[in-house]
Amino acid sequence: MDYLDFNKFFDYNINFDIGAVFIMIVLVGAYVTGRHLDTYQNKMLLTLFITNLLTAFFDFSNVVLQVLDFPNRIMVMEFSHMMYYITHMSTVIAFYLYCNAFSKSMKKQSVKYKTLIMLPALIDAVIVTINPFIHKLFYFDDDLKYHRGPLVFVFYGSAAFYLIMAAMRIHSADSGIGKLRKFTCYLFLIINALCVIIQYVYPYLLIEAFGASLTLMTIYIAIEHPEEFVDSGYDVLNAKGFECLAENCINTDSGFMMFCIKLQELNGINKAFGRKYVANLFRCIIEYFDEKYPKANLFHYSYSMFIMTVRSSDEEQYAQIKSELAEQFKGIWQVGENNVKIKAVIGCARCPEDIESISAIKDFVYAVKDYTANVNELVIDADKVDIERIRRRRKIKEIVSDASEHGGFEVYYQPIISSKDGSIISAEALIRLNNTELGFVSPEEFIPIAEEQGSIIRIGEFVFRSVCRYIREQNLIEKGLKHIEINLSTVQCLQSNLSESLSKIMSSYDIKPGWINLEITETSEAVFNDTFKDNISSLSELGISFAMDDYGTGYSNMNYLYSMPFSIVKIDKSILWKAFESQRAMIVIENIVTLAHSLGLEIVVEGVENEAHVNKLTELGCEYLQGYYYSKPIPENDFISLVNSGFAS
Ligand code: C2E
Ligand code: CA
Ligand code: CA
Repeated sequence: MDYLDFNKFFDYNINFDIGAVFIMIVLVGAYVTGRHLDTYQNKMLLTLFITNLLTAFFDFSNVVLQVLDFPNRIMVMEFSHMMYYITHMSTVIAFYLYCNAFSKSMKKQSVKYKTLIMLPALIDAVIVTINPFIHKLFYFDDDLKYHRGPLVFVFYGSAAFYLIMAAMRIHSADSGIGKLRKFTCYLFLIINALCVIIQYVYPYLLIEAFGASLTLMTIYIAIEHPEEFVDSGYDVLNAKGFECLAENCINTDSGFMMFCIKLQELNGINKAFGRKYVANLFRCIIEYFDEKYPKANLFHYSYSMFIMTVRSSDEEQYAQIKSELAEQFKGIWQVGENNVKIKAVIGCARCPEDIESISAIKDFVYAVKDYTANVNELVIDADKVDIERIRRRRKIKEIVSDASEHGGFEVYYQPIISSKDGSIISAEALIRLNNTELGFVSPEEFIPIAEEQGSIIRIGEFVFRSVCRYIREQNLIEKGLKHIEINLSTVQCLQSNLSESLSKIMSSYDIKPGWINLEITETSEAVFNDTFKDNISSLSELGISFAMDDYGTGYSNMNYLYSMPFSIVKIDKSILWKAFESQRAMIVIENIVTLAHSLGLEIVVEGVENEAHVNKLTELGCEYLQGYYYSKPIPENDFISLVNSGFAS
């Protein structure tokens, strides 16, 4: 091996570079083989890994080339050194861009600013490119020994510039990024600066790339937590990963499209085929996405929802994926030996065109999740979804569930007046919710949400308890009231222990069942449900009376009216108001009155707002009237003053 000149070889210590190459290969390998978020920040991290790997490699090759001998060696040496300068500089710039991405300042930076910031890099590139002609950055002497030229200080200058800029970004990043990230990034800066100084003083000690690789390893393991974003059950990313990616894209102002796939009727499949089968179905779906969209990110967002994101704003691609997914989820999935047809709702959105904030993205995902689909509508476009409405609904959900656990509701009372003598004969208990943020929220809005959520059970109990306490405290019955009317939700009526829990509350306040009248509305599920019927009949046996609420708005099923133990029919306000607009509606109301009376039922009409209403309804023979003409629903104290003022009989 006479071509090896070991004297030259040992001018430099290349062990550090060999170590750096190994570390960087491991890091690049770990990154590429694992699932990771397709964020700008992660791209910069991978760039950092690759540029540092190349820096170490060319640093190493620079040394080795000095001791090898072959034709045109000078050209290869020149190339290797040029590459060293380029990759080394790129590492520094990538580090700055990495810090820039997590500091969330990118969004505020103008194109002009972004261009100006790249100016030093451009100057470096020009210097490297023309160095073979001017030899001012580096050159080789007659012995082919490497020397630095004066322009090397321009490189030091621009490296210092980017490192200072990076330090500023780390400094300005908000505390949300974590102390550890700030610390490790500062560590990167300090160790690199130290290594540059050491290598400047002792040129044979090639430790720059090694120093960088150690700190990069720390950054990857300690901060980026790649496993934090991976689903624990399947080989896909998780909800946290999705939120991180979305936030990152919004902060870096880069467009992406998202497709939320909400699988329907999973419970049915679970019951029919078992949990293992569903797990295999999920694997099938993941495989489909991996094969069909290898560049996309797939997230298992919640049990029945997958989200795919694609980093692109291409309209055609968006439309194509949309139709491909719609087609795919109409078809059959082959899972093991069995075929299964699985319905899905697919929510599609482009960010930032359709949705531009992280909270709006969450609202949209929530809307798709909540979508009780009419199966024909497979694909929901974000631009057709009313995000404001969804946001309010979601907020109300939070408020209602909080209030049902920690309090926040109040019960108001609206007097019901006898048409005979104008006295208060009873009152309807109506729930009120007042929130500091949203103000007064109508029960029309939150009761359906509470029913869906299940919190209506607690809320219903709260109302029932409040009414019992109020009757007892104020001796309402002794004061001349017949009973208090309480609205009972269908969801409550489907609870098997309803009558037990209500009678318990009544006995704890020593309330007679006859002092309570429960208002229930007619719904399709109620008509045929046995629990519902059992509850009504056992409560009725106890002595509680019932009113059929909102009569005229539902099916107005005759069978329902006479097969249930109602004593009162409440005609809905909308029917009353319509009757004063059209003669035909007036005929309807007249017939309801006749029918109810012939079934032996009494009538309450709600929504009585003026004298004309009072006169007409009295003339028709309606027993009881309720409405703003007499009083709006009012708090306990006001209601009791009204009763005490002699309004009552
Ligand atoms: P509802 O059972 O039909 O109650 C009558 C509604 O009509 C009440 O609205 C009442 O304030 C309103 N109203 C009465 N007279 C007039 C009038 O002259 N003019 C106008 N414009 N409105 C009048 P509210 O209190 O907003 O309640 C809305 C609905 O929320 C109720 O309709 C009922 O379905 C439900 N709800 C209220 N409280 C409860 C409750 O404690 N439990 C359950 N399950 N539902 C409740
Ligand atoms: Ca009612
Ligand atoms: Ca009503």
